[in-house]
Amino acid sequence: AARPTSQLLSAADIRDLLDSVDAFLFDCDGVIWKGYSLIDGVAQALEFLRSKGKRLVFVTNNSTKSRRQYAEKFQSLGISVNEDEIFSSSFAAAMYLKVNNFPQEKKVYAIGGEGILEELQLAGYTGLGGPEDGQKTAELKPDCLFEHDKSVGAVVVGLDQYINYYKLQYGTLCIRENPGCLFIATNRDAVGHMTNLQEWPGAGCMVAAICGSTQKEPIVVGKPSTFMMDFLLKKFNISCSRMCMVGDRLDTDILFGQNAGCKTLLVLSGCTTLPDLQDPSNKIRPDYYASKVSDILELMEP
Ligand code: PLP
Ligand code: CA
Repeated sequence: AARPTSQLLSAADIRDLLDSVDAFLFDCDGVIWKGYSLIDGVAQALEFLRSKGKRLVFVTNNSTKSRRQYAEKFQSLGISVNEDEIFSSSFAAAMYLKVNNFPQEKKVYAIGGEGILEELQLAGYTGLGGPEDGQKTAELKPDCLFEHDKSVGAVVVGLDQYINYYKLQYGTLCIRENPGCLFIATNRDAVGHMTNLQEWPGAGCMVAAICGSTQKEPIVVGKPSTFMMDFLLKKFNISCSRMCMVGDRLDTDILFGQNAGCKTLLVLSGCTTLPDLQDPSNKIRPDYYASKVSDILELMEP
């Protein structure tokens, strides 16, 4: 439910949060890093929360990397994070299949990056497509027949830097012609930080392409869908009311936290500005807002 107002995070609020919350869920881009660069003071703030015994979980909608690759990214930025503290939408797609007993003998066609294929493989599934299909072209000679694998039982769509007409035809045929074929979207973000200084079209436009050609709606496994939340709650055995979701986007992160009944903290180090938050047309109001994650530590220092 929408809160009437959001309050600027104070030292007293942090003390309250430290008492009332056991786990902090962090969105990544715009909160921990921006593209390839770490946001100031994040390492120290995370260390502070760990020193208070808090569980830290990192939830990103960016499906281009696997959990292993994200652990490496954290490491390269000087933050030590364990793979099982990371929930990427690439991992969520593979776990969705697993939780729903998707048969191992069926294949999965990916319109997306390496991250999705690696997570599918780790979950025991045969993935097709991905980067390998980046150079392929759909032949459009009048009598040629485009062949697709009839054993594909799911199409997963995420951000794909090399999306092309071949992949669109492949995914479309699987969904339209293979009986019961699932259509899974890692996320529907409009834009993402593919580089440090600019936003680029996100997975949303690639998902929309397949919606357009199939006239079907996908199962979304990334934020704000509740799939990842339900999954990680079970895994860590924590209760939503004792969690705080920290994010920079209202319609994914803050909604994701609120849908589950978590406390929510919006940071202004990413895509949302204070005027966006205060705009009368905005109905999504976090409990608290702060300029950046390191305010948690700076406000506590005398
Ligand atoms: N998708 C893509 C392709 C991105 O580049 C990003 C951010 O960089 C996101 C999604 C959003 O990621 P997050 O959920 O960590 O903010
Ligand atoms: Ca973000």
